[in-house]
Amino acid sequence: MLSTMQDVPLTVTRILSHGMTIHGKSQVTTWTGEPEPQRRSFAEIGARAAQLAHALRDELGVTGDQRVATLMWNNAEHVEAYFAIPSMGAVLHTLNLRLAPEQLVWVVAHADDQVVIVNGSLLPLLAPLLPHLPSLRHVVVTGPGDRSVLDGAAPRVHEYEELLAGRPTAYDWPDLDERQAAAMCYTSGTTGDPKGVVYSHRSIYLHSMQVNMTESMGLTDKDTSLVVVPQFHVNAWGLPHATFMTGVNMLMPDRFLQPAPLAEMIESERPTHAAAVPTIWQGLLAEVTAHPRDLSSMARVTIGGAACPPSLMEAYDKLGVRLCHAWGMTETSPLGTMANPPAGLTAEEEWPYRVTQGRFPAGVEARLVGPGGEHLPWDGESAGELEVRGSWIAGAYYGGAGGEDLRPEDKFSEDGWLKTGDVGVISDEGFLTLTDRAKDVIKSGGEWISSVELENAIMAHPDVAEAAVVAVPDDKWGERPLATVVLKEGATADYAALKAFLARSVAKWQLPERWTIIPAVPKTSVGKFDKKVIRRQYADGELDVTRL
Ligand code: AMP
Repeated sequence: MLSTMQDVPLTVTRILSHGMTIHGKSQVTTWTGEPEPQRRSFAEIGARAAQLAHALRDELGVTGDQRVATLMWNNAEHVEAYFAIPSMGAVLHTLNLRLAPEQLVWVVAHADDQVVIVNGSLLPLLAPLLPHLPSLRHVVVTGPGDRSVLDGAAPRVHEYEELLAGRPTAYDWPDLDERQAAAMCYTSGTTGDPKGVVYSHRSIYLHSMQVNMTESMGLTDKDTSLVVVPQFHVNAWGLPHATFMTGVNMLMPDRFLQPAPLAEMIESERPTHAAAVPTIWQGLLAEVTAHPRDLSSMARVTIGGAACPPSLMEAYDKLGVRLCHAWGMTETSPLGTMANPPAGLTAEEEWPYRVTQGRFPAGVEARLVGPGGEHLPWDGESAGELEVRGSWIAGAYYGGAGGEDLRPEDKFSEDGWLKTGDVGVISDEGFLTLTDRAKDVIKSGGEWISSVELENAIMAHPDVAEAAVVAVPDDKWGERPLATVVLKEGATADYAALKAFLARSVAKWQLPERWTIIPAVPKTSVGKFDKKVIRRQYADGELDVTRL
């Protein structure tokens, strides 16, 4: 027997029309570096999204499910593109502006992007690549930046504001199948070519509802969210869509991602929430330690994308800012877990839950798989690779125009679950603790050492700004940990003291014998520790390693 319910498609168009009417007065504020930020209401964003869709269709000839790329910071125009492109039935392709040039060329060709909307400040990055981007028919430029670098460029160049001016502020959006592609994002490609993840209207809609649940970010129209996590990285963790559902105001930093302007915008715009990777919060902490600022409005922060050191959480607790740890991937839209502790606990009792990656929502099923393919119990001790499935989890990668979608064996199980490549344990209450990436685990004499556990313990030392631990070959044990440490300004290296400090919280056999001080931990295009680079530097003898 079938249900008697209506079958209304879950689409980005629906999120847009809801946000621009019911929450029409909510605002997107974009930092400009000028005395006044740019302020635009959701109603205005909706009207301009309609104008953009008219321009893309009538002037630039975008039809069907053609791909329209963005090479942009977080700002109001990027939000307009987020809604206009999927709602007209086309596919938004957010380009990661920190990808290596050859990777950018590769992803634009693979996605067959027809148009790119670009921030003027990023033209120096795009212009030299244009001769290698034959699929691009049009370049649309918005915001400040010298246009002359585009002189002689092959595709037609347009000014965003001129393109929108005078066009109708309503659009007869087509009826769409909710399973249709709405947006795509390529993984950051630390191993091999980037892989294309294609989000559907349905997956975005359901993911937005989850982001808004109180067990996740739980924001309302009384909130303002500082969206630092880039719109080019997993849809800014779904915030632009989720906020249009509930009327949460957005504060967009544009290109001002350095600690000083971030501190300034928090103090003056007083967001109640923020979302970013740990590196951003490390930088901001150093900034406000040196130049105190009032961050107290920002009661809640979502932190994820890489492991959040507990010491960082403690430091922000003291500032009245509560970091809530979350785990996810490009392939998971990204919300996979969030570390909101269960009810009825004291602050002290909450702590062991807060330092985990968090619990799974109903929409994400999880299992742990051991080295022999066996399913492991949720006992908080059995470590295995995490596999997930759900309505906003990728089931394949984009195979390119006309190509079959890709389901590489190391990324998808035979029964269709996503193999995350993350290794960890799950407690009997469903809280996930990640101990490593599968490829970063240190296999010492047949035992596993968690690099993340060592890093967190080292970063708890008051002289340490950052630390990354990698496996290096060892004649006796197979592999042993190498600790690379970034000291705080003014601190001097005392390896014996660091090792003694570590010995207080870590088993003796796990203590690294190899130590080195480095100026900064190498980072990937999305700000995560790039351990591949450290392993190569060690192999090439570039690091000055002390043994003790
Ligand atoms: P990306 O697809 O670039 O967002 O990278 C996803 C990967 O980032 C995951 O598979 C994890 O390895 C890592 N990651 C994300 N969030 C966390 C977290 N809270 N703790 C540890 N690792 C994380």
